[in-house]
Amino acid sequence: MQKPSGCVSVRGARENNLRNVDIDIPRDAFVVFTGISGSGKSSLAFGTLYAEAQRRYLESVAPYARRLIHQAGVPEVDAIDGLPPAVALQQQRGPATARSSVGSLTTLSSLVRMLYSRVGEYPAGQPMLYAEDFSPNTVAGACPACHGIGRVYDATEQTMVPDPSLTIRERAIASWPPAWHGQNLRDILVSLGYDVDTPWRDLPQKDRDWILFTDETPTAPVYPGLTPEQTRIAVKRRLEPGYQGTFTGARRYLLETLANTASALMKKRVSQYIIASDCPACHGKRLKREALSVTFSGLDIAEFGDLSLLKLRDLLRPVAAGEIDAGTTGDSLDHSAREAATARRVAAGGSAHKSSPDIRRTPNLSDEKRLAAQRLAAELLDRLTPLIDLGLGYLALDRGTLTLSSGELQRLRLATQLSSQLFGVVYVLDEPSAGLHPADGEALLAILKRLRASGNSLFVVEHDLDLIRQADWLVDVGPGAGSNGGQIIYNGPIAGLAGANASVTRRYLFDAAPLGQRAARHPESWLQLQGVTRNNLRGLDVAFPIGCLTAVTGISGSGKSSLVAQALPDLVGTRLGRPLAAPEPDEADPLLEERPDITMGHIAGGMDQIRRIVQVDQKPIGRTPRSNLATYTGLFDNVRRLFAATPMARSRRYGAGRFSFNVAQGRCPTCEGEGFMMVELLFLPSVYAPCSTCHGSRYNDQTLEVEWQGRNIAQVLDMTVDEACSFFAGEPSILRPLTVLREIGLGYLRLGQPATELSGGEAQRIKLATELQRTGRGSTLYVLDEPTSGLHPADADRLMLQLQSLADAGNTVVVVEHDMRVVAQADWVIDLGPGAGEDGGRIVAAGRPAEVAENPHSLTATYLKAAL
Ligand code: ADP
Ligand code: ADP
Ligand code: ZN
Ligand code: ZN
Repeated sequence: MQKPSGCVSVRGARENNLRNVDIDIPRDAFVVFTGISGSGKSSLAFGTLYAEAQRRYLESVAPYARRLIHQAGVPEVDAIDGLPPAVALQQQRGPATARSSVGSLTTLSSLVRMLYSRVGEYPAGQPMLYAEDFSPNTVAGACPACHGIGRVYDATEQTMVPDPSLTIRERAIASWPPAWHGQNLRDILVSLGYDVDTPWRDLPQKDRDWILFTDETPTAPVYPGLTPEQTRIAVKRRLEPGYQGTFTGARRYLLETLANTASALMKKRVSQYIIASDCPACHGKRLKREALSVTFSGLDIAEFGDLSLLKLRDLLRPVAAGEIDAGTTGDSLDHSAREAATARRVAAGGSAHKSSPDIRRTPNLSDEKRLAAQRLAAELLDRLTPLIDLGLGYLALDRGTLTLSSGELQRLRLATQLSSQLFGVVYVLDEPSAGLHPADGEALLAILKRLRASGNSLFVVEHDLDLIRQADWLVDVGPGAGSNGGQIIYNGPIAGLAGANASVTRRYLFDAAPLGQRAARHPESWLQLQGVTRNNLRGLDVAFPIGCLTAVTGISGSGKSSLVAQALPDLVGTRLGRPLAAPEPDEADPLLEERPDITMGHIAGGMDQIRRIVQVDQKPIGRTPRSNLATYTGLFDNVRRLFAATPMARSRRYGAGRFSFNVAQGRCPTCEGEGFMMVELLFLPSVYAPCSTCHGSRYNDQTLEVEWQGRNIAQVLDMTVDEACSFFAGEPSILRPLTVLREIGLGYLRLGQPATELSGGEAQRIKLATELQRTGRGSTLYVLDEPTSGLHPADADRLMLQLQSLADAGNTVVVVEHDMRVVAQADWVIDLGPGAGEDGGRIVAAGRPAEVAENPHSLTATYLKAAL
């Protein structure tokens, strides 16, 4: 460690569990923050240091917002000196926006649009386009048929009438609204003279088409309760109808509902009957025809955006070196003869253009254009390199950010920072190694070092031992979690931690990792998948030992998630004829969520021993502060029953519902049980401030008067799991889930901690704990994608104990894993690769950990060997 050029001095930090922390942290250095989950690392790095830098920034740009910011939460700290401006790269907790892509996030897309606008090959006679004409997200560029979405949504007779043997009265039109509204539509049809008692398939096609597809909305008298015969007579005699009803065609109803409803449930219901297909005008490329007619290297901009970054690099290199003209590089790719032909045709046509001084009218092969191409290609290359170095070369620019893991997202942001050329800032990072194979760790380190060398400070919350060892300085927080943590156990260069006896981190960093030696299980039967095809997996045959713990390894992009988190649950779930058991928050847009990519393949054996599949992922357990640990695990139901059974509650006739902050009678009327009010700030992100009526308790005063064992319901929600374990010691139905949560290392969480404040790792462990408290289940397949991401090695050990106990009970466990300490404890290892994207998707090695560690073809082998 070179002498720090300056320090950030923190005095009296008390954010969350921090215990009046005083600490001096060097600037212009690579500093890691370590400690077990809940010890207070994030409270120090993000909650105090970053929050304070942010607050100062906000105050400087928006003095009027000062009062609100104070309300919203100034970090609990006496003083911080020497703090530079900060940039935080946190793991994404909420969902990314649907339309953002790798290209837009990294801003590479705007360079590419510039490239196409300035130096693309235009068809003869077509005027040049502006850069924004190449963006599907602008009115100028979007395909007019699909408004830049690339898909069109429509309903067909098959989707709306799944069973044509039914009559309309028997609900042949499944897509009709339920209940009264559907009956109303049927009664109108009767009044209009349609037959509702003949099987659908026997109705004349003309009638079927009108009922489903008409855009007319005729009004007709409705006679509820009359038979069709009686109705006909009533209509004829112009009897007084029950009411006048307006008919809407079935398809029109679906599309209108989809466009107008605010209810996620309705959207979901309606979208079942709608199929999406590629827009016929742009073939899913989202751009208007003129934009798609412009090519570079024989590719239109959509094809360019579909290439992997690695292929883009190959394509741009000769252009940047000035070797080949942009129009003729088509055959430098291993692309089809079609593209080479396009390139030749374009080049030939291009040279016939007339010359003109305006750059936007420059002929295709002019020197200006060649120079512009060279410069733009060079800049693109510069920006691609760090992305490729960080192991993201398999991504394409048009890949939607929704399909990326949080680790991939963070690395994208990190690489993008390199080109922003800031200096003198602190980068506050949350586990940048997440999702990274040890073989890719070197590149990450190189990028961090480059950021530091340009005069920045790096404050990194990290668990990866190899990365921690490379830091200049280590801040270890602990010793325990929650109220047992919040102290600085060590602050100094790495080597000095060896003397810090109270540190949990020390054991893992310096002692040989204390692996619980256990006898390996012996696979007796196998879950055999054949011909698995999904993303980069192409006809893969793979077998997982039943009743064992299998770790799937491989570099980022090799296909681990495609296999374990997508194909395996798809195939097994389909065979079980059931949707996945994992409860999913269903608030997302169902149409955007559909995956156009489907799994192909089949299961050749082993299904007789699998009765259930559970996927435990890091998705949030809920997307609003209304769901929390207690509601998700179900233990809150039992707590509320206890409160409802107290004498006071009974005398006041308060049921269990009264003690829910989602029910009107019991909750605070001002914030409607949120506990917080959102404060909108002009031009700034909105902030949350505690509700001024209930001060964050969420309940009204009458509800809070009811106590069980001296505590009201809000006080119970404010307890940590550890505290609640003693408080509910005599209540087995509440104690059981609490105990599991504690064993899995979540004793520090508060029962009422909103879902939105939980990290992905915490959400995953809560799901797992919920699963573990269901006693007596066997024959279940558990699927986990990187369960140790975000976990200190000590927490990872606890998690492994739980997973091992699941396998001991006869369940099959499959995990995607990078941490070789964990892989070493598996019964079986499947190593995917050899590369990423198209170069991956195959099994490089499979066997016991010790066998895979000896495999000369496996990139994982050396790292695994070191952990055995
Ligand atoms: P770490 O980053 O080491 O996992 P944190 O700093 O996130 O730990 O958490 C330290 C303690 O503060 C824990 O007990 C946690 O439950 C609590 N905590 C974290 N965030 C909040 C919050 N927004 N509100 C209240 N308590 C919190
Ligand atoms: P890993 O889990 O080993 O990092 P993935 O299974 O995520 O690898 O990715 C394997 C390949 O499949 C990569 O080329 C990746 O870009 C592609 N891929 C993964 N998920 C999707 C998706 N939802 N849509 C398109 N391509 C995907
Ligand atoms: Zn279109
Ligand atoms: Zn309130």
